[in-house]
Amino acid sequence: MENQTNTEMHQRKGRRLVLFPFPFQGHINPMLQLANILHSQGFSITIIHTNFNSPNPSNYPHFAFHFIPENLSESEASTTDLAVLVQLLNTKCVEPFHDCLTKLLSDVEEEPVACLISDAIFSFTKAVAENLKLPMMVLRTGGASSFVVFTAFPFLRERGYLPIQDSILEEPVVELPPLKVKDLPTINSRSPETIYELINGMVDGARASSGVIWNTFQDLEQSALANLGQQFSVPMFPIGPFHKCFPASSSSLLTQDQSCISWLEKQSPKSVIYVSFGSLAAIKENEFLEIAWGLANSKQPFLWVVRPGLTNGLEWLEPLPSGFLEMIDGRGHIVKWAPQQEVLAHPAVGAFWTHNGWNSTLESICEGVPMICMPCFTDQSVNARYVSDVWKVGLQLENGLDREKIERTIRRLMVDKEGEEIRGRILCLKEKANICLRQGGSSSESMDSLVSHILSIETFTFNAH
Ligand code: UDP
Repeated sequence: MENQTNTEMHQRKGRRLVLFPFPFQGHINPMLQLANILHSQGFSITIIHTNFNSPNPSNYPHFAFHFIPENLSESEASTTDLAVLVQLLNTKCVEPFHDCLTKLLSDVEEEPVACLISDAIFSFTKAVAENLKLPMMVLRTGGASSFVVFTAFPFLRERGYLPIQDSILEEPVVELPPLKVKDLPTINSRSPETIYELINGMVDGARASSGVIWNTFQDLEQSALANLGQQFSVPMFPIGPFHKCFPASSSSLLTQDQSCISWLEKQSPKSVIYVSFGSLAAIKENEFLEIAWGLANSKQPFLWVVRPGLTNGLEWLEPLPSGFLEMIDGRGHIVKWAPQQEVLAHPAVGAFWTHNGWNSTLESICEGVPMICMPCFTDQSVNARYVSDVWKVGLQLENGLDREKIERTIRRLMVDKEGEEIRGRILCLKEKANICLRQGGSSSESMDSLVSHILSIETFTFNAH
């Protein structure tokens, strides 16, 4: 697939696909990568996007963009209650999305629409597509292993694992090894019931779709994919990792600071720890300080992404004690947003301290960079458990953050023998990720099945053609 997507364009298919990304960075990146992959397979691409968090359409002159007004108030758009924000988007987008899709489908100048590909989190889209008699597939931007856990939510509630109780955090979830209760994917919200509704909506929507596309690969999540294959009667297409075919930089919502690369150029091979907690995670001020001191005391060079707003209630680097930056004397480089894929691919990077968002986890695996895991919410804790206990390609920072623990964990991963073994395992996984995309590899074959599947879906009757 890699060679085909990058070099030769497939014959045009005379069909249009309408893609609807969920407007968070970790969802926009894989959806636009998928759009590029499908475009290179010969489909025309139309993206419907909210005005909220929209990527720059001029980076995609080969796609048609349509923007819909989601009408979030300023306070709604800036809420830190992510469950509530996801729910709001799922209600406020219904009408504008329906109107936009109706208009698109009645446009006789355009190629016929073969299907809608919606982010699985936008669970309202199924009803709209049904109403317009348009087939719908979903893209699940997270991993398959965490999705298995989402499908088990009703059971986990019934058995008393959820809502999570502090007294049993370290207990195993015996039905879902190797997860512990504390690894179950949840998120703090003033409306806990909303979380269950969203998850059920996502799982039911995927179940009722015409097929599920995954940004993962067989060798990484074989048993989860097999489990889902048994649970779901719709076809599954694990065609990842997407970013090996098309990078995410053009869909970045924040400007990527290229000084990272020139700074990395000056560092020794595999010496740098890259630290980033993605686009949404937030930490407390005391945690920020422990991270800063842990990094300083580790004596390893570090590249740290401090996103504005990362630390609750603070702008940027205010909590750093005066003299901190002088004290580390060039051994650390702090930026607001990094060109992450390029950073991970740089020979100077030896480890990634991550929140284990699914994209970051995959990007790290694909570059063979071992991880320090510090999950914050939702599927991240499941991803982190798989990294540390199943694939054994990283170490967890668990049960509170303190500078000594940070320093110790960095040494274990970057200096000790334990780290060498971990690096060996992640290099094997990296190789498997490369192989699956080559002709005859599992993702490449899945891609061929996906193309045939899309072409076999009945072109819908309302469509003008
Ligand atoms: N990313 C980036 N620069 C950064 C940090 C992250 O470009 O400084 C990208 C990263 O490569 C990934 C995405 O943002 O593609 C984050 O997605 P992920 O699923 O890891 O986490 P989320 O932001 O959804 O929590």
